[in-house]
Amino acid sequence: MSSSEVQQYGFFFDQSRCVHCYTCQMACKGKNNISPGSVRWLRLFNWETGSFPNVVVNTLFAPCYHCENPVCVTAAGDGSVIKEPKYGAVLIDPAKSSNNPNLQAANEACPYGAIMFDADGNASKCNMCVDRLEMGQLPVCVLSCPMRALDFGLITDLQAKYGTNADLPGVPSSSTSSPAVVFKPMTPKIQIVAYDATTALQLLGARGSLPPVYTDPNQATDTTGVTIGRSTLNMKVSGQDLIDATQDNYA
Ligand code: SF4
Ligand code: SF4
Ligand code: SF4
Repeated sequence: MSSSEVQQYGFFFDQSRCVHCYTCQMACKGKNNISPGSVRWLRLFNWETGSFPNVVVNTLFAPCYHCENPVCVTAAGDGSVIKEPKYGAVLIDPAKSSNNPNLQAANEACPYGAIMFDADGNASKCNMCVDRLEMGQLPVCVLSCPMRALDFGLITDLQAKYGTNADLPGVPSSSTSSPAVVFKPMTPKIQIVAYDATTALQLLGARGSLPPVYTDPNQATDTTGVTIGRSTLNMKVSGQDLIDATQDNYA
């Protein structure tokens, strides 16, 4: 079936509205009976950019984006990942999901690392809640969001409503796979209460009769080589990489 015969549904994510509450992730795990542990069909990321007073905590809602150019399907090459035409969902064939190296290749090709592997080597991923779609219901992650940061529908309808942007700063480019998603980027930070940042830094560093925490305010804002949080998004790292990237090595 040609791609023109696929009716493509997709997601909308408003980065400003997301408060990283994990409700959508838990709803997905619950609905799909996914055990506690590292298998998460819906992953949530946050990473910090900027420095005081312009720190931003970026968030990302990351299910499978059911791409219009599903590079995972091509990379697998054995029919273990397919794109179905009714909703444009990209699905794993359960009969080919166990210890299949082609699915590792599919995940390597996926810009977002959306395919999960359990400890026994079984692969699984977000299935767009197609069972719920068949009953006229929304994907449970979208329905669960208390901040109304998510929406779902025909990608053309979402684009008419929210625009066509499928990229966010720090997130892999949409040019590789044409994800079926519309992103609304974080709105610029607004200083609601006016204050002088230099004076604020001096007050923050003061410790009464004790020496100040720092003498040069730049010591508090220059985080070069001092990783105390995740400063970049990496959607395809090992557990050890994550530990290394989040440890406080300011010894
Ligand atoms: S997000 Fe990754 S796994 Fe999902 S369709 Fe796109 S390339 Fe495939
Ligand atoms: S669409 Fe369904 S399977 Fe996919 S992330 Fe949302 S809840 Fe999970
Ligand atoms: S439920 Fe909504 S606000 Fe909470 S993490 Fe998911 S997208 Fe963000």
